[in-house]
Amino acid sequence: MKEDIMVAVVGAGPAGSTAAQAIAASGMEVLLVDKKSEIGSPVQCGGFLPEAFELEKLMPHARLPGTLREIPQRHILHRTQLQRIYSPSGDNKQFAVAGRVLDRRAYDRHLAALAASAGARVLPATRARLEEGTVQLSGHFNGKIRPQIIIGADGPHSIVSKAMGNPIQETGICLEYEMAGVNIDAKAAEMYFSARYAPGGYAWIIPLSQDTANVGVGVRSSYMAGQKLSIILGRFIREHPIAAEKLAGGEVLAVMRGLVPSGGTCGAIQKDNMLLAGDAAGHVMATSGGGIPLAVVAGRIAGEVTVGQLRGEMVLADYASRIREEFGAQLSRSVRIRKMVDMAMKSDRLMNALFAALSPEQMKSVMRAQIPVPLASRAWLFSGSDSQD
Ligand SMILES: Cc1cc2nc3c(=O)[nH]c(=O)nc-3n(C[C@H](O)[C@H](O)[C@H](O)COP(=O)(O)OP(=O)(O)OC[C@H]3O[C@@H](n4cnc5c(N)ncnc54)[C@H](O)[C@@H]3O)c2cc1C
Repeated sequence: MKEDIMVAVVGAGPAGSTAAQAIAASGMEVLLVDKKSEIGSPVQCGGFLPEAFELEKLMPHARLPGTLREIPQRHILHRTQLQRIYSPSGDNKQFAVAGRVLDRRAYDRHLAALAASAGARVLPATRARLEEGTVQLSGHFNGKIRPQIIIGADGPHSIVSKAMGNPIQETGICLEYEMAGVNIDAKAAEMYFSARYAPGGYAWIIPLSQDTANVGVGVRSSYMAGQKLSIILGRFIREHPIAAEKLAGGEVLAVMRGLVPSGGTCGAIQKDNMLLAGDAAGHVMATSGGGIPLAVVAGRIAGEVTVGQLRGEMVLADYASRIREEFGAQLSRSVRIRKMVDMAMKSDRLMNALFAALSPEQMKSVMRAQIPVPLASRAWLFSGSDSQD
């Protein structure tokens, strides 16, 4: 492998493969490196991705790549029509959201294959380390490279972000089971809020078919009071007054763990010859934990800015403002909302009061990182009844 190359992308998730495709399609030399032996596996995701018209409402200023719009049918396991949200007291509100549930393993491989077809060199089973401007590769491929530009698309604990001097970002921790033999509403993706069953976060049921689902919980360690995540998810599955009925008799086919950035961007997303995209840059909607669409859009922008810099038409310093233009406002509002809702997370009484204050349409707007009046006014803080705690 030659030492001097134009671009190295660390991480072949949705952000990295999208960036590598954009760069290779412009005729530039790019290496796409991932430590996973098989790109896309193991899966660390629920796979929920709103339909393209929903994404346009979520990120109205973003240019959505075709890979978010026309996903081959064979990579879509299921489609949902509703989002249903349960309060701690068991009330629910639902609203229309057209969703696709992706086969993430297949989708990630599809994106990496598009990058490869465009001319990117893909190096699976290869770990990258950064050392004084060089990238050290070890694993299936070994060597030292000196790229002109490095894109860090290497997830929440990004080594590229660390090399840029950024602090460790705030994350939620998730545990998810793929379950078979469940009796769920296959039309609805469900979220459950409760201090007992999902402290500082929420639990979810994402249907994969009529009787299979991804069932998970994402929480923040500061709310867990030393409890193990497997205990929290087990309790949700066996004891939650509503979910337990749907999940009774289900068998676990797969166990997935992972971190989800929950505080938006923390630190710089560009420094010297380095850019960050996707989870590495905190590009995850803090209201939902959804990161696939932002990762793909950020990967596209990182690729375009890289090509612009190499052609002398742009500078890498343009990257942060391009991100801000396309989805910066939505990302930072989602973090503001999460911080408002954090207060309610401390007590089921407050969460029930907040839930009661919002109509289904207002909940939908919260999920789209808009701040409806009842949330902003904080009147709900004073309207909860003590008996529900
Ligand atoms: C349990 C769970 C459920 C989720 N559910 C959803 C959901 O339903 N919908 C949704 O939109 N989002 C969901 N998310 C979030 C979503 O999975 C991420 O936001 C998304 O994968 C981000 O893509 P990415 O390309 O930035 O990073 P990733 O997909 O994390 O890819 C990063 C890649 O970098 C590689 N890597 C890391 N370090 C190195 C290194 N040193 N050298 C080489 N390679 C390296 C990793 O192996 C990995 O393949 C979920 C997350 C979790 C944990």
